[in-house]
Amino acid sequence: MANNVDKSRKPSTLAAQALGWLDPSTNGVAPPIHTSTNYARDENYEKVGDRGYTRDENPTYEQVEALLAALEDGADAMVFGSGMAAATTVMLSLAPGDHVVAPSVMYFGLRNWLVNIGRHWGLQVDFVAPGDTAAIAAAIRPGETKLVWVETPCNPTWDVTDIEEAARIAHDAGAMLAVDSTVATPVLSRPLAHGADIVMHSGTKYLNGHGDVLAGVLVTAREDERWERMNYLRFENGGMLGPFEAWLLMRGLRTLYLRVERASASALRIAEHLARHPGVIEVLYPGLPTHAGHAVASRQMDGGFGGMMSIRVKGGAAAALDVARHVKLFVRATSLGGVESLIEHRATVEGDDSPFPDDLLRLSVGIEDTDDLIADLEQALAASA
Ligand SMILES: *Cc1c(COP(=O)(O)O)cnc(C)c1O
Repeated sequence: MANNVDKSRKPSTLAAQALGWLDPSTNGVAPPIHTSTNYARDENYEKVGDRGYTRDENPTYEQVEALLAALEDGADAMVFGSGMAAATTVMLSLAPGDHVVAPSVMYFGLRNWLVNIGRHWGLQVDFVAPGDTAAIAAAIRPGETKLVWVETPCNPTWDVTDIEEAARIAHDAGAMLAVDSTVATPVLSRPLAHGADIVMHSGTKYLNGHGDVLAGVLVTAREDERWERMNYLRFENGGMLGPFEAWLLMRGLRTLYLRVERASASALRIAEHLARHPGVIEVLYPGLPTHAGHAVASRQMDGGFGGMMSIRVKGGAAAALDVARHVKLFVRATSLGGVESLIEHRATVEGDDSPFPDDLLRLSVGIEDTDDLIADLEQALAASA
């Protein structure tokens, strides 16, 4: 499978053909799934093709990892059993005592991990306001800060962080910058090109896009010692993706560009529509000029602002839950980035310590007809008024 990536091709072409790799044993156009957990040695007890055990290496991972590295224009990629396994591998590549700067608004599970597990393990963690690079600079502890973590746009307010500025601040302090780019996807933003060292994705979301795989991804700018350490951690901690899931992830990636472009275009129209709706107090979407992150997003995101937004419904929690009750097309479910549109009341999901207003509904816009989606929200807002 030693096929090189043709860098003159556009990422959407590379994705559509999954790099164009053919199955070397049959010339099959669709890739095979290599389920074997182990690989036989030859008579001289040498490994054949450098593989021994699937927790470390499997041809099905190799193709999807090569594709992911190409889409992010990185040096190498690793797949994991979940986005959390990928993110926590970055955290565990640090040493106890190291200082981490992370946003106060970020993926709920990872914030919980930093507070309940990372600190217990010995990390010193400071949370700063999302999108505020001056706050990142102020939180840096020279010599101690080893990681700046950014999520952009971040969940569920979609604040946008200037990656180039965050990279400069991190690197001046000798720290690495890791970016959770799950919401932006490589279609709209390539953090490594803006100076990030590591890009992380929950492959569960847009990359797979069909709500049927849990997966995580890291892509690195350089194959350095830190990356070696993360590779070793994946192997020893065992957070590996199964070959079938790796294959499904690759299948999903083939339509990534079409899906994200459609969801972004649809989301912008929905956001503009709802911004004029009397039953909606605020639409949080970086594609709207009224959003605080709009200027940075316009520079840093290319081809759209993504498929995620939140709305604040007039009338508080009861009104928001009423809108969620009355939708017929949007599905009342968590997660994001799939082909079907979802609606979620974050305060219910996060519980009493949720920092978000209880009138907030998060929308993940799918690839359905935009007019159908607008009509569904219209009738739900009317029914709850
Ligand atoms: C879902 C998600 C994660 C966690 O990924 P899992 O695949 O659920 O482990 C991390 N970051 C963001 C932004 C997410 O949406």
